[in-house]
Amino acid sequence: MELSALKTKVYIKEALKDERLRDAVDKATQTAIKKRADKVQQIPYWEELRHKAHAVKRQVMENLDTYLETFEQRCQDNGVVVHWAEDAQEAQQIIRKIARANNVKTVVKSKSLTTEEIHLNKFLIENDIETLETDLGEYIVQLLDEIPSHLTAPALHLTRKDVGRVFHEKLGVYYTEEPTELLTIARQKLREKFLAADMGISGANFAIAESGSVVIVENEANARLTVGLPRVHVAVLGIEKLLPSFRELPVSLKLLPVSATGQKQTVYVNIISSPLRQLTGEGPEQVHVVLLDNGRSKILADPQLRETLFCIRCGACLNACPIYQQVGGHAYGWVYMGPIGITLIPQFLGDMEGRYAPYVSSLCGACYHACPVRINIPHHLLKLRNEIVESGHTMKVEKIGIKMWAFLAKHPRLYRFATWFPGKLQKLHPKPFPAPGYTKERALGTFDSKGFRKRFYEMQKGKKS
Ligand code: SF4
Repeated sequence: MELSALKTKVYIKEALKDERLRDAVDKATQTAIKKRADKVQQIPYWEELRHKAHAVKRQVMENLDTYLETFEQRCQDNGVVVHWAEDAQEAQQIIRKIARANNVKTVVKSKSLTTEEIHLNKFLIENDIETLETDLGEYIVQLLDEIPSHLTAPALHLTRKDVGRVFHEKLGVYYTEEPTELLTIARQKLREKFLAADMGISGANFAIAESGSVVIVENEANARLTVGLPRVHVAVLGIEKLLPSFRELPVSLKLLPVSATGQKQTVYVNIISSPLRQLTGEGPEQVHVVLLDNGRSKILADPQLRETLFCIRCGACLNACPIYQQVGGHAYGWVYMGPIGITLIPQFLGDMEGRYAPYVSSLCGACYHACPVRINIPHHLLKLRNEIVESGHTMKVEKIGIKMWAFLAKHPRLYRFATWFPGKLQKLHPKPFPAPGYTKERALGTFDSKGFRKRFYEMQKGKKS
């Protein structure tokens, strides 16, 4: 599935017409909101945790170079090979090189948005390496040749019936919509692949600088099997994932599951610090870490927008967003979606390709209130909108409108006429004027026959008398 952020308006229109999709997304997000709220209520120091996480992330971003160097050094001390990738292409080449050097034919992956960002599956499959997603949601969207529609629930846009149909059509199994049966089918298919895989690829939720460790939280144990069974493991992580030490980890481990799935704690917390096979006789023989920049340094250089790198990909802002609730994740046209996605799209893809994204928001602020690390998303969206206007990438009709308004504002007589005339015209035609596109979905008000200026002067007079 090839999506483009430039087509977001088309995707939104399509999504709004799709009742089944809207129903599935609405149900899933409302359930997630409720579960999260229930858990938050049980944690009296929730706001304190949010402030703490924000402060830790700020401190990490301000000293990221030092933490990255420490992380690299500790990894090397532990026998982990560290690779630096400036962009997606470099990351792909590094992983291909590791695969070739180890004669890798099959790869199992655990859920990783960073590998989605670099289109790793497509690249590996094109290079004759069988690549299989093992998180249940990711497995389903891979069968459909789609990308995830949510940061933590990749198949959130699908119902049980949809999943039953996908399994029936793609795996040739009998149709069922029973969750336990669907789970058993997926488990049987995936177990064979885990046992046969030469290489495991994961992302990371956090990376600990002080010890050179990668932390992956999960519920399904697929990450555990991805890390533990194949002889080679590769963890791909964005450079912003660092935490100074294990002391800062508990705050994140508390905030993430509550915000993501409404759980007090995830079922598994995997910590990878070294290739274990030499020590214990099991686990990977080699561990590689690919540190991905892919535009993050540029974001880091902006003192305000670097806050968007604080994101721990919990998905709470997506669930809270009234727009996401209506259209789901594919409508945004890129791997990061929802409120945080629309801040990242122009920053990663540039003002040209990402010019529509920051406008897919009502700026209601629900995302900011839901965010466990207190990222002020509406504030950043305003800055990004400003940058898009400055770079000249706004719509023609908007540019013409603003130019006309600026011209009128500099010519008071014309301005007065332009604001007086529609009111008079409205008297002759008492119904709302047609506005193509706008009035298709909603009513346009009528022009006031007096106009703002007249009313304003009348008010002033009234105050004085
Ligand atoms: S911006 Fe905040 S709420 Fe949204 S995914 Fe990131 S951490 Fe979660």
